[in-house]
Parts: sequence; structure tokens; C-alpha cells
Amino acid sequence: MSARSALAQDSDADHEDLPGVILIAGGGIGGLCLALALARHNIPSHVFERRETFEPEGAGIQVGPNGSRILIALGLEAAICVFAGQPRAVVAHDGLLGDEIVRMPVGIGNNPHHSAPYWTMHRAQLHRALLAAVHDSPLIRLSMGQEVLRAETTDDGIEITLSDTQKHAGRVLVAADGIHSRLRKAKISDQPVLAAGKSAARTVVPATSLPNGLDVDNVGLWLAPGAHVVHYPVCAGRDVALVAIFDDEDVSSDWTTPISQDWVLSRCGSLHNNVQQVLNAGTNWQKWSLAHLAPLRTWRTDHMTLLGDAAHPILPFLAQGAVMALEDAMVLADCLVSMPSNIDRTLKTYESRRRRRTARVARASVQNGRIYHQRGVTATVRNRAMGVLGGAALIRRYNWLYNWSWQ
Ligand SMILES: Cc1cc2nc3c(=O)[nH]c(=O)nc-3n(C[C@H](O)[C@H](O)[C@H](O)COP(=O)(O)OP(=O)(O)OC[C@H]3O[C@@H](n4cnc5c(N)ncnc54)[C@H](O)[C@@H]3O)c2cc1C
Repeated sequence: MSARSALAQDSDADHEDLPGVILIAGGGIGGLCLALALARHNIPSHVFERRETFEPEGAGIQVGPNGSRILIALGLEAAICVFAGQPRAVVAHDGLLGDEIVRMPVGIGNNPHHSAPYWTMHRAQLHRALLAAVHDSPLIRLSMGQEVLRAETTDDGIEITLSDTQKHAGRVLVAADGIHSRLRKAKISDQPVLAAGKSAARTVVPATSLPNGLDVDNVGLWLAPGAHVVHYPVCAGRDVALVAIFDDEDVSSDWTTPISQDWVLSRCGSLHNNVQQVLNAGTNWQKWSLAHLAPLRTWRTDHMTLLGDAAHPILPFLAQGAVMALEDAMVLADCLVSMPSNIDRTLKTYESRRRRRTARVARASVQNGRIYHQRGVTATVRNRAMGVLGGAALIRRYNWLYNWSWQ
């Protein structure tokens, strides 16, 4: 952890930007990871975050081996191991009958095909670890309470205008400003973000508040018609993240709309008693309405590109949205290092290296959602097929996902 508070605000606000600086709009997981990936190659960056402070918001997040490999390369392993859960398996159950369907081994040491850990953690703790590393880097400036409003190309780069009317010039602007990216809408595509007709209710509870006998050390997945529940260890196993995803047409626009436990239970009323007991332990539930964006025609314009949810929001049925932002960051940094002089070609190469993979992950996630929420005979057939195939074979189908590396 940095000597400075990880929640400290502007870093080196009085400094001038270094020559060749990369401007990053958005200090979420994607924006901070990009700044760290660039610093690894001695490339300076300036991150602008519209929020005044980072609150400890969000709930759990799973980071498969394709993401943990990146965080390890960024030197964050020791910091993350203090709070990460390290499940040995994802255990799928029939959410109506309560039976275990299959146990899929995950992470190095548990799955012979995985060469990096499978981590589960509180999103805020991951963000704080990234922030601490950002504060430790002399190559990264972070300006809080600064919304990037506009961007205009100049003779040799791009100039942005901030909410306080300040202007900053840089070589490239990376819009890592989330699913509702104003920069994407203004400069690249005004394609609408569409409601997916499902919501995720999320909370984190002490492991001791959950029913005895519940396997709290692994990822538990409970599949039911039109709904599924996931739980996994966070805060080094002291707490457990609970997520219930169900059909819901009532859209909320932020990540943290509070909802009552009764509301969550009423949505999951048909689930097996074991799952009901897990949900009963939940307090302080927050709702997040799932949304998606059809693939964009392009991610770039002159001296500007998109990263993370701004480019390709991904539904959470494969637990890969944030990991895709981490992957984008490593690839973009790699492209900027290997072809620094021709920015147009650099951004084209970044996009072509990322587009197909992120689209494949998005499709796989949608497909998982359909499979998870199947009903009646189809669900029975699904359970039998998963059981016959077995956990090792099922998870092997995702080697293309988890064995990815930017190198
Ligand atoms: C229920 C649920 C479960 C999930 N589980 C997982 C999981 O297990 N694993 C996983 O990998 N992913 C998961 N995700 C997805 C993941 O949280 C996101 O995909 C990821 O956080 C995207 O990061 P980002 O940096 O692209 O965007 P964001 O996290 O949205 O960050 C964008 C940042 O930009 C700032 N900003 C916005 N506009 C501007 C502007 N104009 N100027 C300056 N700053 C601006 C915002 O304040 C914000 O800080 C899950 C999502 C949900 C809803």
C-alpha cells in the first residue's frame, strides 16, 4: 500500500504534463490499469476522473486467470493477496432442487490448464490497490473532480476541455469513461445503450452470517428459471459477495440503487430453501440494471480511442467485464510502445487486436445467461448434460478465455 492514503485525491496537481502524455478520461478499473500499464513502459499519462472522491462502492468481482495474470504483471500480487478470495472451484447447483450439478476446478494449482490464480474480491479493494500503485508512480497524474467535456484534434495530438474550463493537450485521448461514455457519444457513435431486461442485486455479508454447511470458500452458482444466484469469498474469506440476477424491466441508471431484502426475496421466491437462506442473510442490497451496446462500427477517431465498458460493455454472466478492460489496457500500452510514431496505425492495431476477442466474450456471456436461466425440460437436459460432461471438461471449454496473454 502506498504511504499516501489510497483514497488521496489529486496527485501532483501543480506539475506540468510530461511531453508525449497520454490523456485518460475515467479513473475506473480500466483507466487506472491503462495508466499503470503505460508507466511500466515509461509512458506518462494523466487520468481525469469526474468524481470528487472514490467511495467504496460496488460489491464483488471475479478475476479469472486472464485478469490475475495482468494484475501480477503490474506488480499488484502481494497487495491483492491480502484481500482476495482464492476459490478452488465454481460449483453449479440446480437452484430449484438444491442439488449440486457440477464442480469446475479453477485457478493455478486446481486446474492443470490454468497458469494464474482465480481471484474473487471486493471491487472497491481492487480499485484501491490500483489507486495506491497509481499514486506511487511518478509517471501518472490523477486529477479528481474533473469531467472531460470535449475533445478537439490539434496539429500533433488532441486537446481536451474539462468541467472547470481548463484545457490539456496530449498525444492520444483514451475514453475509459464507462458504459454511458459521453466522449463515445460525442466523437464516435451515438448508438444507444439498451436495457437488457435483467437486474443484479448485490451485497457483501460476513461469512459467519451464512447458513452452516454452505461452501463459502468456492464460487457457488445456483441456476433457476429466469434467475441465478452467485456467491464467492471476498476480504480474504471473511466476507461473502452475494449476487442475484433476475428478469426485471424496472431500470435504474446507476450501480447503487438501494433495494429492500423483501424485494430481492420476492424475485427469488421459487428458489430452493438453501438459496433462500443465503439470500436471507443479505442486507444493504443494491440494484444494478444490466445494459448492453451493440458492437460499434469503430472504436476510434483522430488521436482518440475507447477502452473497457466505453467500447464494449459485457453482461456479467461470464464475470469478465472488468477483466476485458484490463486486457484492453495491456494491449493498448503494448501497441503504443511498439509503434509510437504512427498514432493512427497504433490505434487501428489496438482495435483489431481487441475487437474480435471482446465480441466473442460478449457473445459467450449472453449465451451463458440464456443457459443459466433456462426453464422446464430444457433446464433438466442442461443439468444432465453438464453432469455427464463433468466439471473439468466444462471449464476446459473456456481455455481460450482464461489462457489469453497480451504478449
Ligand atoms: C453485477 C455485476 C457483476 C460484475 N462482475 C464482474 C466480474 O465478476 N468480473 C468482471 O471482470 N467484471 C464484472 N463486472 C463488470 C465490471 O464492473 C465493469 O465491466 C468494469 O468495472 C468496467 O470498468 P471501466 O473502467 O471500463 O468503467 P467504469 O468502472 O464505469 O469506470 C468509468 C469511470 O469514468 C468516470 N467518468 C465517466 N465519465 C467521465 C468523464 N467524462 N470524464 C472523466 N471521468 C469520467 C466514472 O466516474 C468512472 O470512475 C460486473 C458488473 C456487474 C454489474
